[in-house]
Amino acid sequence: MTTPDHNIRIGLPSKGRLSDLAIELLKEAGIRFRRQNRSLFAKVRDLPIDIIFLRADDIPVLCAEGAIDMGITGADLVAEANVDVDTRLSLNVGKCRLAICVPDDLEFNDPHQLDGKRIATSFANVTKNFLAEHNATAHLVPLSGSVEIMITLGIADVIVDLVETGSTLAANRLKIAYEIGQYETVLIQNKQQRHSEMAQRVIRRLEGVVIARGYSLLEYNIPQDNLEAALKITPGFKSPTITPLDDQQWSAVRVMVKSSDITSVMDQLEEIQASAILETPINNCRL
Ligand code: AMP
Repeated sequence: MTTPDHNIRIGLPSKGRLSDLAIELLKEAGIRFRRQNRSLFAKVRDLPIDIIFLRADDIPVLCAEGAIDMGITGADLVAEANVDVDTRLSLNVGKCRLAICVPDDLEFNDPHQLDGKRIATSFANVTKNFLAEHNATAHLVPLSGSVEIMITLGIADVIVDLVETGSTLAANRLKIAYEIGQYETVLIQNKQQRHSEMAQRVIRRLEGVVIARGYSLLEYNIPQDNLEAALKITPGFKSPTITPLDDQQWSAVRVMVKSSDITSVMDQLEEIQASAILETPINNCRL
């Protein structure tokens, strides 16, 4: 493999959902490459960027050691790796919780109940830190997967595992007893911040995609008397654009609104006589 030193190296998960999420984000950010035959290396078209495909759980340590300049991986894996990297951007995908999970019928509400218990987990470091914070001592059973069946197998009393929808827990008759942390997919960077100009460009591009995915553009007309109330409902990302209409009693407003809030915002605007309310998706942006 020849990777010229002037190219910035970005590590991506080589397979799984995290890999698909990361590739899709980069594509939307105009960072395009073709991965041939599951190759572990790809060159980005028209930019001095090399993509290295790695195990998601190796990305934090390889980034800390400088084998890659930047990486996309789960914040849970960054916490577990216990290494010193800069988290530059939360990518608003891959959201999950790390939780202490117990059998459905077990009463559990205090971390001190972990004292003397056997805990199966693939997050041994995060769990150890949590135990230390709560002055609890427990026996850890470190594993790399299939943690959810370990209580049934009789080798653990509780598990510490990632939960996204909760369906894996339900299928194994387990419930969340206590949440240890919340995580999502992140962009990390080596502390030395080599190739800082290109790194900054990657961050800005990804940021544009993340914001565009999370917001819509809303346009509406509003009677002058209700403009102030309308701007309270839609304060915008920074500041709304207000244009007077021919009819001086009315203004037109253009504003960014969180996509998840859009329908309730439209309801509220209608209640104060807004009309011609239009939502437009944003493909990309720089703010
Ligand atoms: P769920 O059934 O949706 O709660 O998903 C739980 C399973 O998916 C767990 O066993 C986790 O190992 C895995 N999982 C959920 N979310 C993530 C994530 N963001 N990153 C990696 N693995 C995850």
